[in-house]
Parts: sequence; structure tokens; C-alpha cells
Amino acid sequence: MDLHRTSVTQVPGVGKKKAEDLHQLGIDTVADLLGYFPYRYNDFQVLDVSEAVHDEKVTFQGTVHGVPSIRWYGKKKSRLIVKVNVNGVYVNVVWYNQAYLKKKIKPGETVFVAGKWDAHRLQLTADRTWFGKQGKSLINRLEPVYSVTSSITVSWLRKTIYQAFAAFGREINEVLPQEFLTRYRLLDRAKAMYLLHFPKNREEGKQARRRMVYEELFLYELRLLWHRKQKKLAEQGTVHRFEREKVETFIDHLPFPLTSAQRRVVEEILGDMEENSRMNRLLQGDVGSGKTVVAAIVLYANWLSGYQGALMVPTEILAEQHLRSLHELLSPAGMNLELLTGGMKAKEKRDALSRIQMGLADVIVGTHALIQEDVAYRTLGLVITDEQHRFGVRQRHTLREKGEMPDVLHMTATPIPRTLAITLYGDMDVSVIDEMPAGRQPVNTYWVKKDVWPRVTGFIEKACHKSQQAYIICPLIEESEKSDLQNAQSVFAEITEQLAPIRIGLLHGRMTPPEKDEVMRRFAAGEIQVLVSTTVVEVGVNVPNATVMVIYDADRFGLAQLHQLRGRVGRGGGEATCILVAEPRSETGVERMRVMCETMDGFEIARQDLELRGPGDFFGVKQSGAPEFRVADLVEDYKVLEVARTDAAQVLNASLDTPEYHILRRYLDQLEKDPSNFD
Ligand code: ADP
Ligand code: MG
Repeated sequence: MDLHRTSVTQVPGVGKKKAEDLHQLGIDTVADLLGYFPYRYNDFQVLDVSEAVHDEKVTFQGTVHGVPSIRWYGKKKSRLIVKVNVNGVYVNVVWYNQAYLKKKIKPGETVFVAGKWDAHRLQLTADRTWFGKQGKSLINRLEPVYSVTSSITVSWLRKTIYQAFAAFGREINEVLPQEFLTRYRLLDRAKAMYLLHFPKNREEGKQARRRMVYEELFLYELRLLWHRKQKKLAEQGTVHRFEREKVETFIDHLPFPLTSAQRRVVEEILGDMEENSRMNRLLQGDVGSGKTVVAAIVLYANWLSGYQGALMVPTEILAEQHLRSLHELLSPAGMNLELLTGGMKAKEKRDALSRIQMGLADVIVGTHALIQEDVAYRTLGLVITDEQHRFGVRQRHTLREKGEMPDVLHMTATPIPRTLAITLYGDMDVSVIDEMPAGRQPVNTYWVKKDVWPRVTGFIEKACHKSQQAYIICPLIEESEKSDLQNAQSVFAEITEQLAPIRIGLLHGRMTPPEKDEVMRRFAAGEIQVLVSTTVVEVGVNVPNATVMVIYDADRFGLAQLHQLRGRVGRGGGEATCILVAEPRSETGVERMRVMCETMDGFEIARQDLELRGPGDFFGVKQSGAPEFRVADLVEDYKVLEVARTDAAQVLNASLDTPEYHILRRYLDQLEKDPSNFD
């Protein structure tokens, strides 16, 4: 019997109406129901009064002392109270609106009560009550709690799942090869699934979870790797043919030698480009690790092969800046660069479009305008995106729909552990620049309270007298442009007066693109010495003379963002300072300040960020199509993910025809028939 094809209405007690409501929970089949795991458990382990924690849910066992008294508030509302002797401590037990219990509570009787504990008043507000023998059998256990909706209640679901196991539990088949079950001492599938719903104790629940986490991650990685293999075979990409020697000469003429990490990733990317299958690669490198020059080298190789290249960035400021830095690197080789942004004047844009179409533009740098309908490339061979989390699956589809099949390289400064990156970003290959250019000094980072603000401005003043420049970043609160603008503006007004005649500039999201560009240009040229800004400077802006980064209300920013912002200074090679002005209102905020002061290592920061925020939140991975797991948690189970990936690769490399892998073979065949299952 295939439980995936057996309707949930086959389970005793599930009629048409219930089936409809279960459907809302994504439960249609018996398999869905058995796999609808609890998100937590009620713990009815009986405690002593001394073990109970104030304000938490606890369970006590005791004997009723005296007769309960009841007080009515109107017809329906009531408060029932009685003293219960819990191992010699007299505790008040209170029930709200459960008047029917009054008759049942008799002096001298054993009761089990669970509810919220008030340690100061020695009072328990009971929401669960059991008596005598029945109580004994029910307490000291874990009770599954499910997320529910409509007519489905948690207790109904509990009962129904229990019944589903009784009726169909025998039909649950193993999916993992015995080899792995033995190696990791994993419970078999049927048992693990049952115990994940109904564990007798924490340890059983843990073992059940361990098994299901492995299964989930293993099958996920297996699908991922298999899918990639199929795609590689099926998708023709652009074959780039170029002379390696010319690329070497180009590299020799750069203003600095490449770091060995840059060398390695250049090799990896060029290798992809020469191949026939389509490149889809993620290039990770911390802020300042030198991704731009890598982009320049591969754009050069792309051009040698006779193709146009495009570099897509999230903002117009960045587009301009990348255009400038690429111009320096690529123009000497005879390449023509073109800018294309949404903010361009109609005439400029028309001209640019026709140069692109005629093939006069070799490298096109721009914003999302690059993939708009009116853009016709002559021979697009390579697309590079900066800050990949802003360039989603949709945009990739748009390009494909336009009939372009360029190789694609995504650059990101969000350093996440490699296996995690591979998993989050699905079918991409991953290259990592894990080394900073020589001579880079760590940015001295301090966390200060708001009352030392005058000293902060004093510090900025000193830096300006040494002909250095500074940023002051103000937060964007709740995405409300209004309050954000006010913030930056008032700081701007304040220090313009205080620091005169130092030249202060203001930059915020309400300005038009040309206005922003003008301010950035003046800052880059040194005409503006201190730039007060919202986070529009976050990504990639490069002003080597800037040595001071002040972040106001720093606790409002995420760690990754703070790290990005700090990466804006110290790019000139000298000493640089980052001052976090913050009075955090949460533990997490304090923790973030601490992490920032302690480390400069982007990977370490990303790891901590992941821990503080959880992966769902992590740079909006949800919208980038990251998988959502039923049991596994990418932070907690990261180690398992790595193991599962290695195992899945091993299975795919071996012959799937061995009997041991029979089930997996079937599983993959199924996917082949219905690839939509994959997403
Ligand atoms: P990011 O990875 O943040 O985009 P950039 O590409 O902007 O970093 O590089 C940061 C700075 O480091 C730039 O000024 C760049 O010229 C410089 N740089 C890049 N690679 C090297 C290198 N191998 N040696 C010295 N400086 C380098
Ligand atoms: Mg960059």
C-alpha cells in the first residue's frame, strides 16, 4: 500500500469535513498525516515545588487539603480554589471557569495539576487536571503539540494521528539504506515516526528526531545533487574559447598581484566558462576581499571569446561605481563599457540600447534595467550579479525567457558556511575568497553609549583635520522612510552646526538617483568630508580615504549589515575605526555589539548571526527559494547537513542498481516523472 496515495479519509474518524480542514494544513494523504510532526511537546513531568520555575508551566502531584471554594462572576465565569499538599508544601491551586471540577475534588484525594506556576504566591493556575490512577498513567510524559486550524483541534489531531498509526503504521517503509542506519545507529523509519509524535521521554524524542533529521537532509541533498546532474547534462551553456595566455597577461598588468584565493576562484570560474554546461556559480567573499577584480578578469575572458558581458547591481550608485572601477581595469584592454539604469534620460537610454544591440558595448553595467524587455543583447555570454540575494530566481527566468543562456556568476559578501550556501542556493556551485589582500588592517571597533556623542563628533573632527573622511549611518526604522529620513536629517543639521567649517553631506533613500549620485560623487572626490547617510551606502561603495564609520543606534541593524557597513572603511590600507553608538533594548542587541567588537571575520559573524536570528530570517533566504524543512533546522543540524551531503554524493557516484539502493533509485525515478516534486 502506498501511503502517499491513500486518502486521509481512510483513517478512522476522518470524514469529508475534517479532510477539507486537514487539507488546509497540507494534509491530504495518510503519509502526510503520519508526517505531520509536532512543533513542541507539553512536558508533564511531575516536579517538586523547589524545582518549579516561576512563571513557567509545571506539573505537581499532591493531595487535596480541605474543600474547594468557588466564586462566581456572573453566570459563566468562575474561580475555583483549593489547597493541595505537594510533598509537605501547601500550594494554592486555582481553576478558572472549570466549575464542574468542584464535585470531583475531594479532600485527601490524589490530584495531578499542570499549569502556570507563581512562585511568589505559591499558586498554580491549572489548565490540566487528572485524578488518582488515571493521572498516574498520564503524567510524566510528553504530549505532542501541533499547529492547527479551523475545526482541527490539537487533541483531535493527537487522537487521529494515534489511530492512523494503529491502522497504517505497518505500511511505513524504510527509505534509507541499511548501511547508513547502522553507521549512525538510527532508528528505523516506522519507529522514529511514531516516537516523534509520541515519545515517552526526552531521549526517545531525541533519537526519533535525529533519525528524521538525517533522512530529511539526506533525501534533500540527494535530490539536489541528482537534479543538478540532470540539469548539467540537459542544459547547454555558452562555450567560451579564449587564450589563457592573454588572460595571464591581463592579470600581470593589474595594479597588484592577486591573492591566492582570488587566483583559485578565477581558475574555477574560467573552468566553468570553457565548459559546455551552463555556469551557475556563487562567488562568496567578505567585504573588501577583492571580488571586483575577479569580475573584471572573467569579463575580459568573456570578451576575448567574443561575447558581451553584463554586471548587474542593486543600486544606481553602485552601478556608477562599478562602472568606474571596471573602466579603469578594462578600458586599457580596449573594451567598451556601457551604463544602463532605470534613471537614465530617455535619449541616453535609447543610445545605450542601440549600442548594446549593435554589439558596440562590450560590458554593460547596470541595475535591474539590464534584464528589462527593451534590452536586446547582441551576444550575451556572461552575467555577473553583485549581492546575489537581491537577484532571485525570477530574474534568472526572465533572462532565459528572452532567449539568453549566458553563464551566470553571483557575487555576494554574505559569507555563509559553504555547505549551507550550497543548500540555500540550491543548484549553484560555490567559490569562496577566504583571504584578504595583504596589508589590510582590522578596523578598530568600539561600542559606546549615546552620552559620549560629543566625544564621537570630536573624533570625527580630528580625522577630518588629518584629511580623512567619515561616515555617520543612521538607522532605517521599521522600513519607514519618514522616520529614517528625519533621523539622518537631524543628525546632519546638528553636526553641520557643530563641526563647521567641515563639509557635511546628506544621503538618504528619498533623494532621486541623480541627487544621490551627486552626493556620492562629491564624497568620493573629497568635497564632502563627513557623509551622514541611511543605509543606502551599505553595499559595495568604495571610498578609500574614509577611515571612520559611526553607526548610530547600531543595535537596530543586523550583524551582517553592521559587518557590511564596517567594511566601508579601512579600504585605503591605513588605520580605521568603527564606532557603534547604541543602547540596546534586547539581549540580542547586546550580543550583536559584543560580536562586532570581538571579530572581523565575516564567516564567524555570519555564523553568530545565524545563531541569533535563525536561518529563515537570514538575509531573507525564504524568498530566494531556500528549502523549508519539516524536522531539520539548518543551524542546529548543520553538522548533519554536511554528513548527509557527503553520503548523498557517495550514493549518486555508486551504481544505483545495487539492491541496497533500490528504494532510492525508485525515489529518484519518481522525481524524474514528476520534477515539480523537486520544488
Ligand atoms: P569587494 O570584495 O568588497 O567587492 P573590492 O573588489 O571592492 O572588494 O576590493 C576592495 C579593495 O581591495 C579595492 O580597493 C581593490 O582595488 C583592492 N584589492 C583587490 N584585490 C587586491 C589584491 N590582490 N591586492 C591588493 N589590493 C586588492
Ligand atoms: Mg564589491
